[in-house]
Amino acid sequence: MIATLLAGVVLLHGFAMAGAPVRVFTQSAYAVGPDGRELPRVLIDPEADGGLSEAAYPLGRGRRLCVRTDLPASRLGGLDDLAARVARGYEHVEAATGRRVAGGVLLYLVDRPVPPPAYTFRAELSGIENWVQVRVVLIGAGDALWGPAEAPQLREFLLDTLPHELGHGLIDAAPTVRQDHDGGAPTGTRWFVDGVCESLAKGFAAREDRAAARSLLARRHVDEVLDRPGVRGRLLSWHSGSELSWELESDLYGAAFLLTEAWLETRPLDALLADLAATGGDHDGGALLDRLRADTGLPLAAILDRAAGLGRALLAPPPRQVTLLRRKGNGPPPGGPFPRPIDLAISDRD
Ligand SMILES: [Zn+2]
Repeated sequence: MIATLLAGVVLLHGFAMAGAPVRVFTQSAYAVGPDGRELPRVLIDPEADGGLSEAAYPLGRGRRLCVRTDLPASRLGGLDDLAARVARGYEHVEAATGRRVAGGVLLYLVDRPVPPPAYTFRAELSGIENWVQVRVVLIGAGDALWGPAEAPQLREFLLDTLPHELGHGLIDAAPTVRQDHDGGAPTGTRWFVDGVCESLAKGFAAREDRAAARSLLARRHVDEVLDRPGVRGRLLSWHSGSELSWELESDLYGAAFLLTEAWLETRPLDALLADLAATGGDHDGGALLDRLRADTGLPLAAILDRAAGLGRALLAPPPRQVTLLRRKGNGPPPGGPFPRPIDLAISDRD
């Protein structure tokens, strides 16, 4: 089960048997009202409400993006662009990791003029093995599927959540590190696993939409998160059973991203993952830290300081265009060529 933290809302996804081979997929959004009480959840069952149309787009290697929707045809403009973005997300994740995603994406786009903050979506599925990701996005009255009016949740899913979850699928599918399992002993590897997934997601977002990537990084407070109380102390022992506040949990995603980025400065992700797999694929947190120290040549405190610096640079104010004043009759001032503006906001990594 995957939990996605939103501002005041938790999304939970699950599958239940409904007589093989049919499964019931659910996505529930829990929301808390101003009085601190959970809001009642609206049931969304679009197939029972009148059926869905379907469009499929190839993603190569037999995989596909399947969009099921109750939106009228007049509101499906931009679907081709959406599908192309999913394909680029696959390419980004596969190029960065050197691994192949095993299945496709099933995306429900549900027409809800006023999307309820709390809901449970349900749908019966067969062929569940075809999908590495099933997701529902509610499309409001003013929302489009592409362009400036693109539904915010849709943009976030395509730019951030999907590449993050594809990363989890790839790490799950091949030996890399010992992972946390519900109820099991913590392994100390979550900072690395979620750090890699965040690196894939933020890297893809930066390639697609720099302004959106910047706001995603700002939401993780990457410019200060490693200086916040409790974050460094919790990061290395963070695990799936940690019962932390939403705010601290979100901060730990940001901190994990930065620590992983500091490691990836020394070697590309595909080489690192291949090396971890080749040397057993069952590294625990201590073994990962030994490798991190060896690769960077730094003690942990210095690596964290370096990671904090990376975070500050990522959210530094956009550079201003520098204009050199020419003095009348004297030509350009001495000192070499005109400086060119350098975009330090996001560094791409292929
Ligand atoms: Zn994750």
